[in-house]
Amino acid sequence: MAENKLAKVAAEARLCTRCPLYQTAMQTVFGEGPVGARLMLVGEQPGDQEDLVGKPFVGPAGKMLDKALIDAGVDRTKVYVTNVVKHFKNEPRGKRRLHRKPNRSEVEVCKVWLDQEITIVRPQLVVAMGVTAASALVGEAVTLSRLRGNEIAFADGQRGVVTIHPSSILRAPDEIGRRLAYAGLVKDLKLALTRARPRSP
Ligand code: SF4
Repeated sequence: MAENKLAKVAAEARLCTRCPLYQTAMQTVFGEGPVGARLMLVGEQPGDQEDLVGKPFVGPAGKMLDKALIDAGVDRTKVYVTNVVKHFKNEPRGKRRLHRKPNRSEVEVCKVWLDQEITIVRPQLVVAMGVTAASALVGEAVTLSRLRGNEIAFADGQRGVVTIHPSSILRAPDEIGRRLAYAGLVKDLKLALTRARPRSP
């Protein structure tokens, strides 16, 4: 059964030491959501909150994503949510742990887990959120603005849509920037929903 297969892969990922990132994180944060979900959302990596809780997109960026999903008419409980990299790459700064971007090698090594999630969940459409996820799925460095607004095919033939990472809205310099970025995310999620049509038999 696909659910059992996914649980087995998640259990294997919990023991993963394929790159050094497991050494400075609390735990593997595997994807979450139903097998057969029409949409799979893929971010970069878990953040501080996700690392503590062990679930994807539960921190500030996750709350922003939840709001955008509601505004786009997407039910999060029916969506599979995950990240390209499963451990939180961080740098201690006093009592805080600051996010550090995963490098190309870490992304490539960790993508083995995402590939298995896609194979087992079989989403109709994958939404790459942010440049790290988009580059990993396209198979080369990409510019988000050139890919947004249309359905594309990722390197493995998987149908997809590209959008910003919800955390970038939180980093916008002012309120107008935040509103524009948020509206763009909602628009991309609406596009994804319309394109996530059922497979032909
Ligand atoms: S980041 Fe990915 S590849 Fe690296 S140890 Fe964690 S699960 Fe394994």
